[in-house]
Amino acid sequence: MRVGVLALQGDFREHALMLGGVGIEVALVRQSDDLSGIDGLIVPGGESTTIGKLAERFGLLEPLRAAIADGMPTLGTCAGMIFLAGSTTESRPQIQLGVLDVVVRRNAFGRQVSSFEADLEVAGLSGGPTHAVFIRAPWIDKLGAGVEVLAEVEGHPVMVRERNVVATSFHPELTGDGRIHTLVFSTVGEA
Ligand code: GLN
Repeated sequence: MRVGVLALQGDFREHALMLGGVGIEVALVRQSDDLSGIDGLIVPGGESTTIGKLAERFGLLEPLRAAIADGMPTLGTCAGMIFLAGSTTESRPQIQLGVLDVVVRRNAFGRQVSSFEADLEVAGLSGGPTHAVFIRAPWIDKLGAGVEVLAEVEGHPVMVRERNVVATSFHPELTGDGRIHTLVFSTVGEA
């Protein structure tokens, strides 16, 4: 299996390293041609407004929507979760793919605890909780009917799945624990 990492902005290198670490081949995605020949996709963390603007500028919005709608196993982390979602709670619209039926709240954990780490129980993850790093992280405010919650912090969804799309508020690429990447790309494709 070969997984593409959207490499416009943010921590795509860390995702690429993590994929390599769990034995998955990596391709960097910067233009629509890069989507051919991949079996899965990661949208990294970073700044979601910037990722959206660059994806539009490089003509990637429709090709990404089509590939994901077509069933490509996809993982979005932090800003990637925001970019995949349908909308945010903010009044100012931003460019989003709308392939995950949720409303996200950006920077949801507030100023005091804007970045933190927690041991997180994830549904379907064997081997115990994962150590999760949250950096100016979003949470999910509203869930569409087909969206399953896989992990929560204080009652707020921080990991969800809708068909072939999984999104996390945290950064599984930063902790050396490759189980989330393995989980997404070994099981989501079968959904
Ligand atoms: N706060 C960023 C945003 O709103 C996300 C931060 C991250 O990806 N670590 O896009």
